Amino acid sequence: MKTIGLIGGMSWESTVPYYRLINEVIKKRLGGLHSAKLILFSVDFHEIEQLQHAGAWDKAGVVLAQAATALERAGAEGLVICTNTMHKVAGQVQSAVSIPMLHIADSTAEAIKAAGLSSVGLLGTRFTMEQDFYRSRLESDHGLDILVPEEGDRVVVHKVIYDELCLGIVREDSRSEYVGIIDRLVCRGAQAIILGCTEISLLVRPEDTAVALFDTTAIHATAAAHWSLQD
Ligand code: GLU
Repeated sequence: MKTIGLIGGMSWESTVPYYRLINEVIKKRLGGLHSAKLILFSVDFHEIEQLQHAGAWDKAGVVLAQAATALERAGAEGLVICTNTMHKVAGQVQSAVSIPMLHIADSTAEAIKAAGLSSVGLLGTRFTMEQDFYRSRLESDHGLDILVPEEGDRVVVHKVIYDELCLGIVREDSRSEYVGIIDRLVCRGAQAIILGCTEISLLVRPEDTAVALFDTTAIHATAAAHWSLQD
């Protein structure tokens, strides 16, 4: 089994499920008392969030690149950045190390294509929904059609992530707002929805909507666990 290096803490509320999900897959695959070999470098999300909203992505990339280097030195054989948004600096992080990185958008796109779908709605931070680093990977590299919510809905999705979910706050009215936003994406042609922020699955559950949800946390964690068991 290979050792997974997790760059987490963005937020820690969604890093906890990564740890549980990776171990659940290893237990299912190997049985008995088997558990994952992994190393977690958990950053201070306050620092990262300030850099994000100041547009200081290079500086944020330096913080994550240092985390990646530390994980490699500690024995990690592959990297997992436990957030969609910070994949904006995936290239900067990857170039700091010689171990491979499992890109969250690639794992997600593979799952969507395996389900035979091509037109999907994307929920995430404004960075993820509006900038190119994530959407273009899904569209150009994987041939998916990506729909994002209208401006007003994007503001709501972003605010709930930072003001509630990253603080561990789960509100029924926010869940209803998200379900309404999902419904509007479905009306515009989305065949499924990408929960493209690792905290959204803390709020929106499969039973809340009839449309298929692609939970990037579960998909990415599962991909990491399977990767660790490959030769
Ligand atoms: N965890 C979130 C994501 O998947 C948002 C927090 C962050 O900005 O990293 O995008």
